[in-house]
Amino acid sequence: MDDRQFRNAMGKFATGVTVVATEVDGSVHGMTANAFMSVSLNPKLVVVSISEKAQMLDKINQSGKFSVNILSSSQQDLSMHFAGQQKNHQEVKFDLVGGIPVLPGSVAQIACEVTAAHIEGDHTLFIGKVTDLQIEDLEPLIYFSGKYRSLIEE
Ligand code: FAD
Repeated sequence: MDDRQFRNAMGKFATGVTVVATEVDGSVHGMTANAFMSVSLNPKLVVVSISEKAQMLDKINQSGKFSVNILSSSQQDLSMHFAGQQKNHQEVKFDLVGGIPVLPGSVAQIACEVTAAHIEGDHTLFIGKVTDLQIEDLEPLIYFSGKYRSLIEE
């Protein structure tokens, strides 16, 4: 099995899209991620999976905190921006929830404190205890087979 075949198969799992954000020394760093899931209800835990190549890895290791911002259908440009896919420099405004930077206009903003970090292969799984959250009544952005989609109600 080659890498392309593995990636193609994993891409068949339709997901939402998030921007993970954290702050180190007064500077906010954001990164697009779809490797996110809910882990536990009691206590309330989530997980994100961050590549060893991503700058975000050191940032979360330093701050011990992060937010997960579930993107809305109107935030595809932000997904591309925080995946490093747009050449033009873009100023992005962040708000604070529970003292952690969050992206305005996202469907849900989930503030977390890192409770564990597991290195697995070339990624680190950060377990985050949810300390605060906000929800907006918006449609989500969807990612499937390497393309952005939107939800269609049956
Ligand atoms: P950089 O590549 O340096 O930063 C990303 C971009 O964000 C840059 O353009 C930077 O200028 C901009 N940026 C950062 N902070 C700010 C700020 N405060 N204000 C304005 N701009 C800012 N990778 C994973 O490890 N895990 C995943 O689950 C994952 N899922 C992905 C899902 C999708 C749909 C896509 C498209 C990509 C995904 N990636 C994932 C890849 C990841 O988003 C990219 O590799 C990303 O470039 C890595 O970010 P970085 O932390 O190395 O920082």
